[in-house]
Amino acid sequence: MLFSDIIGLDDIKQMLIQAVKSEHIAHAQLFAGAEGYGHLALALAYAQYVNCTNKQEDDACGKCPSCMQYNKLVHPDLHFIFPTATTKKVTSPEDAVSQVFLPEWREFLTKNPYSSLPDWAIFFGAENKLCNISRNESRNIVKALSMKAFMAKYKVMIIWLPELMRTEASNAILKILEEPPQKTLFLLVTNAREQILPTILSRSQVVNVRPFTDDEITQALVQNFEIPQAQAQNAAFLAEGNLNEALKIAQNVDDVYTDFFKSWMRFCFKTDYQELANLMEQFAEKGKEAQKNILLYSLKIVRESMLAKFGGESLLRLPDETLEFVRNFSKVLSENAIEKTITLLNDALHHIERNANPKMLFLNLSVNIAILLR
Ligand SMILES: [Zn+2]
Repeated sequence: MLFSDIIGLDDIKQMLIQAVKSEHIAHAQLFAGAEGYGHLALALAYAQYVNCTNKQEDDACGKCPSCMQYNKLVHPDLHFIFPTATTKKVTSPEDAVSQVFLPEWREFLTKNPYSSLPDWAIFFGAENKLCNISRNESRNIVKALSMKAFMAKYKVMIIWLPELMRTEASNAILKILEEPPQKTLFLLVTNAREQILPTILSRSQVVNVRPFTDDEITQALVQNFEIPQAQAQNAAFLAEGNLNEALKIAQNVDDVYTDFFKSWMRFCFKTDYQELANLMEQFAEKGKEAQKNILLYSLKIVRESMLAKFGGESLLRLPDETLEFVRNFSKVLSENAIEKTITLLNDALHHIERNANPKMLFLNLSVNIAILLR
């Protein structure tokens, strides 16, 4: 993984690169973020950069022997610890350690380094089982790091989601953090900084990784995942800085949201019940997740309309064509009507979660919004 493979986050990349250039490499670093952020990808790019034998100005070279092995995540001095569980193939908890699932892990990481724990669990066959970093990992951690580096400048151990470590594994890590072996780099990648033991936290340098911006997500979806621009923008708008979520939204649902919402509001405005009934059928045919996304998207548009109404246009984060719609929409609605629409949509979301009848729900919602629009 190169820094240039990761879209955006230039501020954090520069900080990491400067630390290496000035030889201020802390032996334990905690990359703190949340699901769908770039922290795991950054930790990987950082480890590759540190060990690259032909460092470029702002990145690893990608071609030296170290980089070649890092590209495939098979460098003998690159170690991974991550949450696991038993599977159909690996039935004994004793055996279910990171080492055993390395081939799956490499494939998973290569496909999408922004993935979530539930995605990982499904990928390696644990299905709905609870995953954690087993106590048996402590042996592996000590063993991996007590060996001399094969060829790298730094031995690297990347621990994904250390908040899921069993006490035994934490203790092993603590011991190593207290007396770190020479030229060893510990990169902890957490989604829950507040759950990390204070003793580990105090021995680590924290690298706070911010959420992606909407623009960064859009660009990443287009460049790395081949999602069409308009669809990527809509997904970014919904995902609140979570690239993994944005990818799911973009892949699951087409860019029907905008069109759906526009037609819906137009028919409510005209109180065209024939067309509303057609839309109701369309809505009911979709899966629950898609129904939720439509409501969520509608809610965001209405909120943006509120912003537009109060001259907060600089805050609007919408693609151009949708922006035009929001401007017009905000002119039609009174402040009071917008507030009530927000409440209606929130209630509808709440009811969809609790398995309300989607047809009844959509029809009620439409009638109520139509009244507000008149
Ligand atoms: Zn290199």
